[in-house]
Amino acid sequence: MADTSTSTTKRPHVVVLGGGFGGIAAVRKLKRADVDVTLIDRHTYNTFQPLLYQVATASLNPGDVTWFLRAIRAKQDNVRFVKGVVLTADHTTRTLGLQSGQTISYDYLIIAAGVTTNFFGIPGAEEFSMPLYKRSQALAVRDRMFAALENAVVNRVDEDLRIIVVGGGATGVETAGAFAELRNNDMPTTYPELDTAKIHITLVEMGEHVLAPFHPKLREYARKALVKRDVDLRLGTAVKEVREDGVVVMTGDKEEFLEAGIVVWASGITAHDTVKGWNVPQGRGGRIEVDEHWKVKGLDKVYAIGDVAISPATLPQLAQPAIQGGKHVAKVIAKEQKGKKVKPFKYSDKGTMATIGRASAIAQIKGLPRLTGFPAWFIWVALHVATLLGNRNRFATMINLTAKYLAWGSHNAIVGETPIIIADKPETVSALEGRYGEGAATTKAAARKAAEATAAGGFEAIKQAPQDD
Ligand SMILES: Cc1cc2nc3c(=O)[nH]c(=O)nc-3n(C[C@H](O)[C@H](O)[C@H](O)COP(=O)(O)OP(=O)(O)OC[C@H]3O[C@@H](n4cnc5c(N)ncnc54)[C@H](O)[C@@H]3O)c2cc1C
Repeated sequence: MADTSTSTTKRPHVVVLGGGFGGIAAVRKLKRADVDVTLIDRHTYNTFQPLLYQVATASLNPGDVTWFLRAIRAKQDNVRFVKGVVLTADHTTRTLGLQSGQTISYDYLIIAAGVTTNFFGIPGAEEFSMPLYKRSQALAVRDRMFAALENAVVNRVDEDLRIIVVGGGATGVETAGAFAELRNNDMPTTYPELDTAKIHITLVEMGEHVLAPFHPKLREYARKALVKRDVDLRLGTAVKEVREDGVVVMTGDKEEFLEAGIVVWASGITAHDTVKGWNVPQGRGGRIEVDEHWKVKGLDKVYAIGDVAISPATLPQLAQPAIQGGKHVAKVIAKEQKGKKVKPFKYSDKGTMATIGRASAIAQIKGLPRLTGFPAWFIWVALHVATLLGNRNRFATMINLTAKYLAWGSHNAIVGETPIIIADKPETVSALEGRYGEGAATTKAAARKAAEATAAGGFEAIKQAPQDD
């Protein structure tokens, strides 16, 4: 295998494995250090995961939340980017083996590879549910939703359509809230054919609360905000099995099958399988064990930061610990070049927040009282826009979120391609006949009429007809 190490000078070569929050923070902090840096990532872009659910629910473009990693060179010339998947690490020869067959040597290694979805071995979960960890997954959820809605218009107008979100953490709550707003606010205008009362958004959470790490008052606010948006909240409910057509849940001893067209998996994380090939000590969830400087236990000049690492302080798997960890390790390396040492890492907790929907959020921010409603939501929007990478992404996101939340009546969703829908029972439908929405004075009568004209049957997989181009 060819050594494609990009270091050409005698300066120490720092390899950063992963261009997420932690990796980027480390690379940037090394800008003025006397080192050469190589950033490796499996993607050519960084993903701003906190806003992925906005892509999944048709409010943001995928490009708004992703940033071209090679653009990092615009402000930093001691860094090179390599696109590739790291499969192996040999800490004796100090080399990484990439899926491409390339070998990259390092003097210092910073592992910032993040984590991935954990299905906890629940039968059918990996096969039939849709995780929300990557850009492609967010797009898949969005496209599946519109495909299901278009299919419902043609073939299932009188049937219930359920979207289940599994997991009552921030991602689950935000996703369920956004789906509910799409249904409540947009669909009466954009899908007059469908009765929104038949479109159910169900949030399934095993614990007794949503957003468990928050103060009880904030959790209660979030619960009420979801109920107000007609989210069918199933607390204390565990997923037993995911099937093609829905989810089997257990509430106490009671087993129930919830039929669903879409199941979004927003619960659980674990280290990538590839970490097993990196010769590092792995602890709970496959995460890498590190010391108070984020140095991997038992290894020299090898660090692990962010979600993939278990620090002695057992910090939450959020952006801030990854960013602060990245900066700390970069400082350790930079100072070491000058023969200096730094104090052990100390986390500065800036707080956490989550949003439920328009003008509705909760926030626990350092130095501020606990916030709910509009003030929390405003800070949530401002902070998320500010922490995106790149001005273009900030502007684009600001414009799209403004269009969504201020031009509340525009209903202009960001859509992708939907498959050609084949009618189960071809029929002629005259304008507005058997349709809901504005002008349909007797919604229930229209529902009955539509039902008569629609073939019966449960949810089937959406027909995978060729794309309409
Ligand atoms: C949907 C969602 C919503 C979230 N919302 C919030 C929020 O509101 N607030 C908050 O603070 N946190 C949130 N988080 C958590 C936050 O995104 C993570 O804590 C943070 O991204 C961790 O940063 P990291 O650098 O450790 O890993 P990541 O940001 O995940 O980056 C890891 C990088 O490593 C790359 N990589 C992985 N394996 C390899 C390999 N073998 N070879 C090459 N490259 C590899 C990946 O492509 C990726 O770019 C959310 C997470 C998700 C999934």
